[in-house]
Amino acid sequence: MRREPDGGTTYLSSARRPGGVAARIPNSDQWSISPTLGGVPRGDGRLNHDLLPGEKGPQDACGVFGVWAPGEEVAKLTYFGLYALQHRGQESAGIAVSNGSQILVFKDMGLVSQVFDETSLGSLQGHIAVGHARYSTTGASVWENAQPTFRATAHGSIALGHNGNLVNTAQLAEMVADLPKENGRATQVAATNDTDLVTALLAGQTDDDGKPLTIEEAAAKILPEVMGAFSLVFMDEGTLYAARDPQGIRPLVLGRLERGWVVASESAALDICGAAYVREVEPGEMLAIDENGLRTSRFAEAKPKGCVFEYVYLARPDTDIAGRNVYLSRVEMGRRLAKEAPVEADLVIATPESGTPAAIGYAEASGIPYGSGLVKNAYVGRTFIQPSQTIRQLGIRLKLNPLKEVIRGKRLVVVDDSIVRGNTQRALVKMLREAGAAEIHIRISSPPVKWPCFFGIDFATRAELIANGMTIEEIGTSLGADSLSYISIDGMIESTTIPKANLCRACFDGEYPMELPDPELLGKQLLETELAAGPANAAAEALRRP
Ligand code: SF4
Repeated sequence: MRREPDGGTTYLSSARRPGGVAARIPNSDQWSISPTLGGVPRGDGRLNHDLLPGEKGPQDACGVFGVWAPGEEVAKLTYFGLYALQHRGQESAGIAVSNGSQILVFKDMGLVSQVFDETSLGSLQGHIAVGHARYSTTGASVWENAQPTFRATAHGSIALGHNGNLVNTAQLAEMVADLPKENGRATQVAATNDTDLVTALLAGQTDDDGKPLTIEEAAAKILPEVMGAFSLVFMDEGTLYAARDPQGIRPLVLGRLERGWVVASESAALDICGAAYVREVEPGEMLAIDENGLRTSRFAEAKPKGCVFEYVYLARPDTDIAGRNVYLSRVEMGRRLAKEAPVEADLVIATPESGTPAAIGYAEASGIPYGSGLVKNAYVGRTFIQPSQTIRQLGIRLKLNPLKEVIRGKRLVVVDDSIVRGNTQRALVKMLREAGAAEIHIRISSPPVKWPCFFGIDFATRAELIANGMTIEEIGTSLGADSLSYISIDGMIESTTIPKANLCRACFDGEYPMELPDPELLGKQLLETELAAGPANAAAEALRRP
């Protein structure tokens, strides 16, 4: 490790080629950027999300973690926190650490365990850290868009991680374009994601006299302007911050360590790093944590609209959201599904693992025995081998193997959490029939997904959603099942015990919790599109690379 004479920039030793190191170059807002891990094999990063090659299930929009804890190994705590949140994003991972006078960011494409090792974590010394595991919702899955984002400010620097997706990205890009110019240059944004725009806005605010605002002052000014889903963790050299959008669409919780504080996307991440759950970060609330303790402020009135899909599929079962345990919600969804859609059968099985709690609930309420009919190949999702066409044709068998001795001759109830395009369930039905199932009745513990999500969950385009334009009976026939039923919207909502008015369920009923801009101003590639639009576009000007 080498330190610059002025102490401003830290590089990792090049003895082992570092994977994605970004450090601030003194007296500028440029980063030193090391290339990604060229030539090092990495997994496909899919873990348990996709059972069928090329068929994506719903994809999460990131996990965030932050810690303020003098005397603790904050980088390692963040590593384990991100490890616990890996299901929320598997495309890239990063950790930023402050030692009180400078921030070092280390990030790369891949899983948390692929990005970090003892050497890289050992180089991240300090008492404040923020970490991020990414699945891309705005901006491509490339190194520049990995987080935490980093930017120099008049007072030091800022590193920021974001879970969620914003809906006024185009407007934020225009606000960046309007920031005061430094040395005649417009503020430049190297990334093409909504998060980097927020970071630029927080870094570049001034008061009416042109005096630069602190991060805390800038956040109070800017966060009310940010629309959409955002659970943010960010820091400057001395303070850890956390903020949640007024709807509280994505979860964010506060925990206590013996010698510090932790914020995380899910309460399960607190458990894993030994932090005691304190409370949720409230919708519309910002926390600031430093040596003076914890401060709270409100930048907007709370209008809770938590994502119901977190309870159905996204969050870990051992997480609590808004006081309700996710596993218990899923079991209750299964119980209600059994009452709403009974069927005569011999065995209830789950599509592992996300369908398991609902299958347990279905079996309990129906009196039909629960059994294990499918064995999951837990590690195949991390293979380093690109499947050839022949292997690809094995499809779902790469990940699931039917237990023929259990299935043969049985009338099965197969419980899954959701259907997006239907290809996975179609392959599953075929495989179970080949294994000798007498009947296959599919039961889904969420209603048909008919609408896109703009708040951080990547389902598919509307045209790709199988529930669009087909009746439930037609879908069942298309899957090759003997019957198909979904839980009702009310059944799903009541299973969460959260009041309907406090939940977003737009992907099921099309009632979005906030006004949305025109369709052409939404979408994952928005900023890449803006970049291509040419200098006439004000937003594009702001997004132009250095
Ligand atoms: S649209 Fe669906 S997935 Fe998106 S936030 Fe709302 S409930 Fe969650």
